Amino acid sequence: MELWYTEQHTQNVRFTIKVDEQLYNGQSEYQRIDVFKSKEFGTFLTLDGLMMVTEKDEFIYHDMIVHVPMATNPGIKNVMVIGAGDGGTVRELTRYNGIENIDMVEIDKMVVDVCREYLPQTASKLDDPRVHLYFEDGLRFVRSKENTYDLVIVDSTDPFGPGEGLFTREFYGNCFKALKEDGILVNQHESPYYDEYAQAMQRAHKRIQEYFPICKVYQAHIPTYPSGHWLFGFASKKYDPVTDIKEESWNRLGIKTKYYNTDIHKGSFALPTYVKDLLTDT
Ligand code: SAM
Repeated sequence: MELWYTEQHTQNVRFTIKVDEQLYNGQSEYQRIDVFKSKEFGTFLTLDGLMMVTEKDEFIYHDMIVHVPMATNPGIKNVMVIGAGDGGTVRELTRYNGIENIDMVEIDKMVVDVCREYLPQTASKLDDPRVHLYFEDGLRFVRSKENTYDLVIVDSTDPFGPGEGLFTREFYGNCFKALKEDGILVNQHESPYYDEYAQAMQRAHKRIQEYFPICKVYQAHIPTYPSGHWLFGFASKKYDPVTDIKEESWNRLGIKTKYYNTDIHKGSFALPTYVKDLLTDT
């Protein structure tokens, strides 16, 4: 009998992947956790029936969420990562020798435990001595931080369930406070393509703009996320990611990447007209 994983992307659209087997199924305090093995995408993790990472395309998401801010300010030393339980974001950050500390705040320890077992490709650097794991709600963790971090990366689930608070005004305001005077905030920004996601993206963008003087959006093609067209938010107190990119310094680091390069960095901020309209029409 054939086994298929099906995800509801909208009321009218479903996305389906043929799977060889289900490797894990469990319910944590926060969400349902599933791991499947497939021929096309390798092993993949879903939370509450929504795709989080696949072995085949995770490099696109993790390259773009990490290397864009790092090439904008290669001097980043102290980083806070919120969510990111699969470990892929931390894995990319640990490739920078200049980073001294990474505080990773993941609400659900079970996600990390499951990923360590079934997705060693992404979870491989969670034991790096610079990484400090906190199993707490990111919304609460950030409240007590002030002028501490050079970079905050929000690698969260969507704005419902445990991730809801990570899209609020209160959260963005506290991220602003937690960042140093040249700090950068990057967050996964949903998709512009389907209405429900686009509205969440518009709300998030508008709220971030209330705090940060520089607010941009950049894009990547991620095949297993709804519509495949995915956005990231880049908010900053000082650096513009396009005009302040430290292209030569970044290229001198010799970090080998499969998706990111400094050309795609600059190009990813060039948005389709309908996305520009969504961002101004809020
Ligand atoms: N790359 C993924 C995506 O965009 O779909 C996100 C991956 S990562 C697994 C998302 C993580 O955010 C989950 O493990 C979830 O437990 C965590 N998370 C959700 N809400 C959170 C909160 N309030 N504080 C900290 N972590 C949270």
